[in-house]
Amino acid sequence: MNRPRSLSQFQAEFPDEAACAEFLIRHRWPAGFVCPTCRGCRAARLRSRAYTFECLGCGRQTSVTAGTILHRTKLPLTTWFWTAHLIATHSNGISALQLANQIGVKEDTAWLLLHKFRAAMTDRERQPLHGVVEIDQTEIPFRTVGSAATPEGRVVIIGAVEIVDRDTWEAPKTDFNRPYRNTRPRRIRLAVIPDETQASIHAFVRENIAPGTTLLTDGHSSYLGLNEGRADERYVLDQRVVGKMAAHLVLFWVHRVFALMKRWGMGTLHGFRARHLDRYLEEYAFRFNRRYWRRMSFERILGLAVDHQPHGYAAVVGRKPRPNRANPPKHLAPRRRKTSDGMRRDGAAKRAMQEDTLERPAPG
Ligand SMILES: [Zn+2]
Repeated sequence: MNRPRSLSQFQAEFPDEAACAEFLIRHRWPAGFVCPTCRGCRAARLRSRAYTFECLGCGRQTSVTAGTILHRTKLPLTTWFWTAHLIATHSNGISALQLANQIGVKEDTAWLLLHKFRAAMTDRERQPLHGVVEIDQTEIPFRTVGSAATPEGRVVIIGAVEIVDRDTWEAPKTDFNRPYRNTRPRRIRLAVIPDETQASIHAFVRENIAPGTTLLTDGHSSYLGLNEGRADERYVLDQRVVGKMAAHLVLFWVHRVFALMKRWGMGTLHGFRARHLDRYLEEYAFRFNRRYWRRMSFERILGLAVDHQPHGYAAVVGRKPRPNRANPPKHLAPRRRKTSDGMRRDGAAKRAMQEDTLERPAPG
């Protein structure tokens, strides 16, 4: 089992900007730098700009943070790393206010940082759940503004928990008559669904669970039909008709997950906000699914982050980005930069510049 880095290990490994940058470079280009424009591999590391490579093929300059969620960040890399470490090691999650106090930024900044990481946490390589999966719905109150004491509505959440044998970590054999004993949850999925209709529930199941899986559910009629259809598309339906009181006994793990998720929402986030609910659930599932691999999850958080498209404030609040920020306009000509000996185009080699100087007509 990989334990998370301790505080002293973390500080020894990432003491400064250079150490953080080397880590990002190693993870973003494990086989060496690749130019995002021309896919060329030959590049020079610039001395004049921090952590930036200039492609020897097309002349494009790329910093290790460009085109990632760290795009155009004004914060030190150490702040980003410290945040990733806190996200990975806080078993309850961390609120914007707690983070602000820890890393010494304003609460707004901390809030945006957390949202950028949350957006990057959507693991695109993840495999669908399989084996035996408990699945159920619950409702939670949410607010749009104000305090958690005055919720404004309720929203339906669906949860799926992959259960495995406590010792072997293998899926238990499907048994329609007995409870699955000695199990533990392995991975979970949580999502907001518009309602509890067949269409909404089937869509969630098809997106998150592999066909052939045994679905352990209550007697809800919306699950009907999932065990029909083509052989490579259908599921095994194990529906247990239970009274309200016994649901937490038959569907033990999914109810446990719901209870923990709600406690997390009330305790850490002081109630869920409707707008970001999907991302909070994503973060909760991310942390849950990696709870035995905390150390890895730090790398994963940053690794994913480096692989992610820029996710600016506009994207977080769902506003159209300003054209010159998150979506910079395409440059028709190479960028010109001020250097000690005049303006220089990106990619213009020294020699070309000297020729340029020689060709200039003599004054007078
Ligand atoms: Zn290039």
